[in-house]
Amino acid sequence: MEIINNVYQLDRVKGSHVFLIKGEENILIDTGMPGASEQILAEINDLGVAAKDLQKILLTHHDIDHIGNVGILEAQTGAEVWAPEADIPYILGQKNREGIKRVIQNFNRAPKPVKLNGYADNQKFGEIQIIPAPGHTPGHSIVLYRNVLFVGDLFKTNGSEISPLPRFMNRDQQQAQKAVAVLKDLNYDWLCPAHGNPIQNGAEIQQFISRYS
Ligand SMILES: [Zn+2]
Repeated sequence: MEIINNVYQLDRVKGSHVFLIKGEENILIDTGMPGASEQILAEINDLGVAAKDLQKILLTHHDIDHIGNVGILEAQTGAEVWAPEADIPYILGQKNREGIKRVIQNFNRAPKPVKLNGYADNQKFGEIQIIPAPGHTPGHSIVLYRNVLFVGDLFKTNGSEISPLPRFMNRDQQQAQKAVAVLKDLNYDWLCPAHGNPIQNGAEIQQFISRYS
């Protein structure tokens, strides 16, 4: 599905969305649950991006449904992989996830990336800006490209309904709610959560922001 010109939500990845930005650099945002690397490569290829032409993979956070294919995709494309500094130890298996996520991680042993770069403060990649929005995980970050904001797991959507992730999925509930306030300072027309459908900026999101921040 094309969100705006040359920005896509991949249709063949189920569960947790993967996004493609086609531009001067071709960039993937998140990588879905383990086992979807072939679907991802086939779909971006159909959208005009050969594996060798993927330059970067940007991760919003360490959860398994976001990093599930990053190791395989790194190996198959040669793309640079970037992630929030505070989430890197979880991605590399140096720290254990907590609660339910620890149980899930034991069932999903995704290959790890070989080289993982951490976002700097105010990290930018061309027209892309990385914005910390922690709480869901220690380093959870969102990604702004032109008028599209990829919000990771800051919230989820169902039609026009916007809701927070369940409490047990958030590492720090208070911090996760406060993180919603970052949306006040950004300009965007589209919001793309990892779970649910993209929504346009409007009354629903403004109400959500005032309720949760
Ligand atoms: Zn998550």
